[in-house]
Amino acid sequence: PPPGLGSWTVRRARTTPERTALAHGGRRLTYAALDDRVRALAAGLAGLGVARGDRVAYLGPNHPAFVETLFATTALGAVFVPLNARLAPEEHAFALADTGARVLVHAPGADVSDAALQTLDVLAVRSEHADRASLTTLEVGAGYDELITTAATRSDPVHVDPDDTAVLLYTSGTTGRPKAARLSHANLTWNALNVLVDVDLARDEVCLLSAPLFHAAALGMTCLPVLLKGGTLVLEEAFDVDRTLDLVPAQGVTIMFGVPTMFAALARSPRFADTDLSGVRYLLCGGAPVPPSLLEVYAARGLTFLQGYGMTEAAPGVLLLDREHAREKTGTAGRPHFFSDVRLGDSGEILVRGPNVVDGYWRRPDESAEAFDDEGWFRSGDVATVDDDGFHRIVDRVKDLYISGGENVSPAEVEGVLVGHPDVVDAAVIGVPDERWGEIGRAWVVLAPGATSTPSDVLTFLEGRLARFKHPRAVEVVDALPRNPTGKLDKGALRAREH
Ligand code: ATP
Ligand code: MG
Repeated sequence: PPPGLGSWTVRRARTTPERTALAHGGRRLTYAALDDRVRALAAGLAGLGVARGDRVAYLGPNHPAFVETLFATTALGAVFVPLNARLAPEEHAFALADTGARVLVHAPGADVSDAALQTLDVLAVRSEHADRASLTTLEVGAGYDELITTAATRSDPVHVDPDDTAVLLYTSGTTGRPKAARLSHANLTWNALNVLVDVDLARDEVCLLSAPLFHAAALGMTCLPVLLKGGTLVLEEAFDVDRTLDLVPAQGVTIMFGVPTMFAALARSPRFADTDLSGVRYLLCGGAPVPPSLLEVYAARGLTFLQGYGMTEAAPGVLLLDREHAREKTGTAGRPHFFSDVRLGDSGEILVRGPNVVDGYWRRPDESAEAFDDEGWFRSGDVATVDDDGFHRIVDRVKDLYISGGENVSPAEVEGVLVGHPDVVDAAVIGVPDERWGEIGRAWVVLAPGATSTPSDVLTFLEGRLARFKHPRAVEVVDALPRNPTGKLDKGALRAREH
């Protein structure tokens, strides 16, 4: 079995000490410098009492401190807990209490973490796990840096069991209460190996990363594989069109990672046509299929997309649509990664098995048991179809499907037709109980500014475009749809409106 994540910087410092590991603002850290800081930080954390199995949380945007804390924590055999910086203080406090974190490393400008800590004080009174008194906070640019620069010793990584938890990562909470996936050293390593095999990363890769590291996608599909290979990560705290167009030629970026909306925003910039993209080898994209029109815009610049489908619990890669098939198989999420297996269950649910898949959730025995079938396949909760060549098309979430008059309806399909209406910019559909049909659709739409379409205009638009049984009974025009911090539709909030 592979050695733990906590040994990666030591190994890189041994083989590629002089190469740049991280670039952030004007700062560059070689692998030798990164390893020295990681081992100093590990010594500092150990001095604060962090030991094997303890949890160390990180709250902030992309920054070298995220990467350093990840490796220093796992080098001690402790568990790294990245928090989603876009969540509310109550949600941060919940995660700190739920994981019983001993140390919280947080970004400068302590307002976010202060609010979280105040809430934690309140929680501490109510929860057996919340133990505010034993939580040490370290601010990046202050106590955090001091701990590293004043460390008198350097820690060497301890031996870990590959099945030990390395990272506790909360799922997006789209279908319920967020739960922390127990990602082991082995899970994260095998996912990184899947990426090295299927994405074909090179050693001299310079990867621009402005998508947040606290999501499994950026962490698993770029950060860890690029560092495993010895490439360079250019860390950006947020996505900005102009900065991205500056950075690509200036930093010699060879791969970019993002979601379709990011690549669409770049292509819309008046500067896009004049920006030198010749050093870019390809684009990595996940979360949703890249629309064919966007494929063409980038193809005209000689650039192709690799598109991924996955989930936090798979560390996260499951399916990959390779560049060679991006056009021919457009709209699909591709085929399984090399070391992972996928099959479709009875309802068409994607089932996943492989060394990258977690064995359960932190302190959630019931949800952990429910997540796997009798043969140990992980239930993704997503419905898909597969073609003769093995390419999968993601249809919808199992929980969102409803049955109207005995026919299965996919809300995602109805939403897709609704946003085809020239006035509709966003749409959501859920199934609601109906005496005659069992269930029937209920739709909400957001109109373009100044648009005057009525609900009945929108319903009329569906005639001939969608089978009768898929037509929602009612359409309501609203200003905005509820979305969770990942940008996914919050169908729970919509269901609550119906009760
Ligand atoms: P929760 O599990 O807490 O309800 P979540 O499933 O949204 O939240 P994540 O692990 O962040 O949390 O997201 C994984 C999900 O994202 C997948 O199960 C799938 O529904 C969706 N997804 C990921 N990639 C794609 C893709 N390429 N196309 C369509 N859907 C995708
Ligand atoms: Mg999920």
